[in-house]
Amino acid sequence: MTHPDIQEIVYSEDRVRARVAELGAEISRDYEGRSVLLIAVLRGAALFIADLAREITVPVELDFMAVSSYGSATKSSGVVRILKDLDETIEGRDVLVVEDILDTGLTLKYLLKNLASRKPASLEIVALLSKEGKQRVPISCRYTGFSIPDEFVVGYGLDFAERYRNLPYIGILKPSAYQD
Ligand code: 5GP
Repeated sequence: MTHPDIQEIVYSEDRVRARVAELGAEISRDYEGRSVLLIAVLRGAALFIADLAREITVPVELDFMAVSSYGSATKSSGVVRILKDLDETIEGRDVLVVEDILDTGLTLKYLLKNLASRKPASLEIVALLSKEGKQRVPISCRYTGFSIPDEFVVGYGLDFAERYRNLPYIGILKPSAYQD
């Protein structure tokens, strides 16, 4: 059943699952013979990394970072702060950064620069969602799940004021849900 605060489902649970499986297969092919270190940017990418990791057939390790982003507002500030750093070093590793959504790209730009300075063997990005025409800085995203129009979406890890992360689909909030 659709949550009463959701105006429209953009990607259903089945479509998300199918696309994550495709991404996992593509990543498994590309990293054949190597192991991959998946780094998720908390908290939005937590659900995506959990499902993606299970679709990858080469050896996988997981690590997590947390950066400040939206808070409870819906506009990117461009201000990025590391709230939680990686537990392991990434030097010489094949690193794949797992992001929930690429919007302006400001968060990832900062993060990539920071991670690149730690000298990984390779550094790529997989983003579940990418907002069309919104990127303010060029980011080369190796894998993208879906392109979406410039709408604020929630579900499958994405929140509004920490809510709706547990919805199994990706949807657009009703305007009334912003006012509570
Ligand atoms: P960027 O720096 O690319 O503008 O923003 C990236 C971060 O902003 C994402 O990781 C996510 O936390 C947040 N964000 C951007 N667009 C949306 C959206 O439509 N819905 C939600 N819930 N968060 C978003």
